Amino acid sequence: MSNSKKPLVVITGASSGIGMATAKRLSAAGHSLLLLARRTAPMEQLNLPDTLCKAVDVTDREAFMNAVNEAEQKFGPVDALINNAGVMLLGHMATQDPAEWDRMLDTNVKGLLNGIHAVTAGMVARKQGTIINISSIAGRKTFPNHVAYVGTKFAVHGISENLREELSPYGVRVITIAPGAVETELLSHTSDEEIKTGYQAWKQEMGGVVLSAEDVAGSIQFAYDQPQHVCIREIVLAATRQQ
Ligand code: NDP
Repeated sequence: MSNSKKPLVVITGASSGIGMATAKRLSAAGHSLLLLARRTAPMEQLNLPDTLCKAVDVTDREAFMNAVNEAEQKFGPVDALINNAGVMLLGHMATQDPAEWDRMLDTNVKGLLNGIHAVTAGMVARKQGTIINISSIAGRKTFPNHVAYVGTKFAVHGISENLREELSPYGVRVITIAPGAVETELLSHTSDEEIKTGYQAWKQEMGGVVLSAEDVAGSIQFAYDQPQHVCIREIVLAATRQQ
């Protein structure tokens, strides 16, 4: 068991973007960490103290559970899960490869449920814990070419709110963070070049300024750092000029 002063936090999708920025912040605040993503090198290169980096695909429930068990052996019980891993593959429904919907549903919805499954029993038993689900403004309103992605993020909002009701009697907090556009790798995985170009034009319409991963990490830390009896149920944040 390590002597770290603050308890273990699990962050999914920590090899890039919002997850990586959150890992750096929570490590600087003294937490031990379990970082999960398919690529381990970017997580290991952070060289954070009291941190276990595991190559886990969040769609693999057993691998997720095993990683949590290993981290708990090392650092003690999980106090928070930042359920952040996600993919956004924008497309036109008439032409998009259905394999892309499968990937989004598997990662953004089933992967999120796998995370919840891996930590909830322990949190309920200890009557302590925080689950932070990263949704999107696309979990509250629709956007062109976002049909399947919007479906996954509306699901994240629904799952989070229902889970919050279920876990609140046990003193476990469930928080939804819903960012607008953030400058990360997320859009790069969309295969439709026209849609990607359209996004750049949309960004210019709002003065070329979107959120940074660090902006979102700050809101995650703010919500988590409230006293345990205070549950910020949802934070919606976006660049000031985003509609
Ligand atoms: P990035 O693409 O920069 O990061 C996504 C992370 O998720 C990576 O670390 C990636 O790691 C991981 N990931 C993807 N698939 C899997 C998988 N199957 N198993 C494990 N890890 C996986 O994007 P963001 O930081 O922007 O995205 C983080 C979250 O924020 C997502 O849920 C996204 O939907 C949400 N969001 C982002 C917005 C934006 O504009 N960027 C706006 C609103 C919400 P690896 O490839 O190594 O597995």
